[in-house]
Amino acid sequence: MIETINKTDFAYSRMFLNNEEGFNNYSQSLKIIEKKLTNFLKGNHSPYSGKKPYEIEARLSGRSPASLKGETLEAVADELAEFVINDSINVHSPACIGHLHCPTLIPAVAAEMVIGTLNQSMDSWDQSSSATFVEERLIDWLCSQVGLPEQADGIFTSGGTQSNYMGLLLARDAYCKKFWGVDVQQHGLPVEASKLRILCSEAAHFTVRKSAAQLGLGEQAVITIKTDANHRLSIDELNHQLLLLEKQGLLPFAIVATCGTTDFGSIDPLHELSEAARKNGIWLHVDAAYGGAMILSKDYKDLISGIERADSITVDFHKLFYQPISCGAFLVSDSNSFQYIQHHADYLNPQEDEAEGMVHLVNKSVQTTRRFDALKLWMSLKVVGLDTFAEMIDYTCHLAREVAVKIDKEEGFTVLNKAPELNAVVFRYNPEGESDQLVNLLNKQIQQELLKSGRAFLAKTRFEGQVYLKMTLLNPMTRLEHIEDILDEIRVLGEMFKMMEE
Ligand SMILES: *Cc1c(COP(=O)(O)O)cnc(C)c1O
Repeated sequence: MIETINKTDFAYSRMFLNNEEGFNNYSQSLKIIEKKLTNFLKGNHSPYSGKKPYEIEARLSGRSPASLKGETLEAVADELAEFVINDSINVHSPACIGHLHCPTLIPAVAAEMVIGTLNQSMDSWDQSSSATFVEERLIDWLCSQVGLPEQADGIFTSGGTQSNYMGLLLARDAYCKKFWGVDVQQHGLPVEASKLRILCSEAAHFTVRKSAAQLGLGEQAVITIKTDANHRLSIDELNHQLLLLEKQGLLPFAIVATCGTTDFGSIDPLHELSEAARKNGIWLHVDAAYGGAMILSKDYKDLISGIERADSITVDFHKLFYQPISCGAFLVSDSNSFQYIQHHADYLNPQEDEAEGMVHLVNKSVQTTRRFDALKLWMSLKVVGLDTFAEMIDYTCHLAREVAVKIDKEEGFTVLNKAPELNAVVFRYNPEGESDQLVNLLNKQIQQELLKSGRAFLAKTRFEGQVYLKMTLLNPMTRLEHIEDILDEIRVLGEMFKMMEE
């Protein structure tokens, strides 16, 4: 064994590590990859190559995912371009307007290189020294932009799913401690916990249900409240439910307000919800995964007024902050709330370290090893600047308003949200006198054909049982003309499919 080690000159492995050879290889590798990416992006306005799932699978399944002796990066990059990059969803396309899936900003992409190269781990100070304080500074900045009180705090997360889970976890444990004196972390849930209930609107994100299940409360714990004509949680319905729960002896411990629903981008009445929560001693979690970006807006910032009254908040940066996945944050109005997830491991974050000023962010996270995602946001906010962020976000909200008005005027179309709050527009091709069944089929076919032809990627959703199309207008490069072209295409496809059905 020792002999083999001595005989090896590590000539090949040296190429991939930090030394002279590795260093040359580093810049060459980046250049090769950069070229492949620019080839894909330059002049490519199509959101997708149009290949069917089985075609992609068949192309990839014949190729080995590993190599015994190693191949050149050039060879692998050629394969990467042909089999992966070229058949990716092109989030930079102005016609890629389906999901809350954003184009990424260049400084953030550059930051990804730093994140990968430095490879800091955000759990303990001795793995993330300076990075710890970059994240802490950004959290402070976010708390102040949102308008949270002095004792607010937060942590970067993998996204809205994790942030929503954390909000409900802390809310549950705070309730059990306050009303029953039970330390859930130590002793688990008491039997009375089967009576705990979470209130949210019927348009709230599905991760509220998933969290309830994972928190040992079951999906049955989620009581959904009807929305009003603007797809916002109805306060009357909420008050009605609160009375009903009281009569049944059930215990609402959390209200989840959605600040930007996934389909309509609508914003629940935050001030009224905070009143209701305070009056009833209930934790208010605001899911602002989508709408949180309005802190950067100039024209629409007032839409999220009231968010500062939340007990906890979800914000995603990989949506309207144009950051590469994954990047999100979870904020609390009182840093003491993190006590419910504290655990001191001797090897990682012993309590005595804190006295010496070592900050271990694992104390605020449900993750241990964690990426330095805060750097992406830090570089973007500094390089792009707040004025330009406001310009981009405000443009997209403005565009959505114009698009909704335009579609509403078009014959043969129906818009559900004629006055979008953020930048999502839900509508459908709806020729007069046709049955819902046919209209549903047509819209489904239109959505699929647009993607297959590479013309546009729109999302498909359901509202009151019927199929609708959705444009999520996150990309500031999308112009009204792009939308007009897509609408023309929808009409042509709709007429064609209708003829085929008749
Ligand atoms: C996207 C979204 C989530 C889920 O967040 P991820 O970042 O995908 O984990 C939760 N809530 C809302 C309102 C969202 O839009």
